[in-house]
Amino acid sequence: MLEIKDLHAKIADTDTEIIKGLSLTVKAGEVAAIMGPNGSGKSTLSYILAGRDDYEVTSGDILFNGESILEMDPSERAAAGLFLAFQYPMEIPGVATMQFLKVAMNEQRKARGEEELKTPDFIKLVREAAGDLDISMDMLKRPLNVGFSGGEKKRAEILQMKLLAPQLCVLDETDSGLDIDALKIVSDGVNSLRSPDRATIVITHYQRLLDYIVPDSVHVLSKGKIVKTGDKELAKELEANGYTDIIAEAAA
Ligand code: ADP
Ligand code: MG
Ligand code: MG
Repeated sequence: MLEIKDLHAKIADTDTEIIKGLSLTVKAGEVAAIMGPNGSGKSTLSYILAGRDDYEVTSGDILFNGESILEMDPSERAAAGLFLAFQYPMEIPGVATMQFLKVAMNEQRKARGEEELKTPDFIKLVREAAGDLDISMDMLKRPLNVGFSGGEKKRAEILQMKLLAPQLCVLDETDSGLDIDALKIVSDGVNSLRSPDRATIVITHYQRLLDYIVPDSVHVLSKGKIVKTGDKELAKELEANGYTDIIAEAAA
């Protein structure tokens, strides 16, 4: 489903290369975890997948269902079925969360050539999904992410993800700032989306999240490239021994 081939990318308008020959394949049905020390390029990778123009791909390619997405803008990528939940979700003042969700869902339907959702149908879908995530109707009336706590922001991201049901979800440090209860709610939300024709990339610094979202593959990112790939045991090894040894061993 996703194939990243020898990707190199730099910060736009500079010579600072952050992604340095990164290759990664994620198949349909798979949950892949990307782990790595602070500053290894995890968030940069998620921004590049989203198509932010602060970064420039200098070589390599990103294929989504066999087609390069490098020339697509962020909304085209979203319409193609890519969903990114960022480490620091954007605040959208002046737009009620409810309204934001409705627009997002209808844009997606439009891109697929489907009719707009009728309001009662929309409300029903949101109520169901929000209930599962312990999100109140009150919260949905507030502007998206404005004044939301860390946990509320993450739950709002998962709500968007559930409603849009994308083909590929990328979650950047969804666990940061979550207490155990919120972590469980968010993980249940992610797990409920598991299906043979969908894939998820979970980016995390800590192994803890992977006790709840059990990955099929674990990839270690260091200095802009994947230096080691394994299964869920690799995450446990990282937790026990830290990144330093495993990265040094991979480089040797
Ligand atoms: P991670 O998410 O793994 O902690 P990041 O992708 O946030 O790492 O950052 C990778 C490296 O790139 C860091 O050294 C960071 O300082 C640098 N970096 C990322 N974006 C920028 C930017 N816009 N300007 C300068 N440095 C950046
Ligand atoms: Mg970081
Ligand atoms: Mg990060």
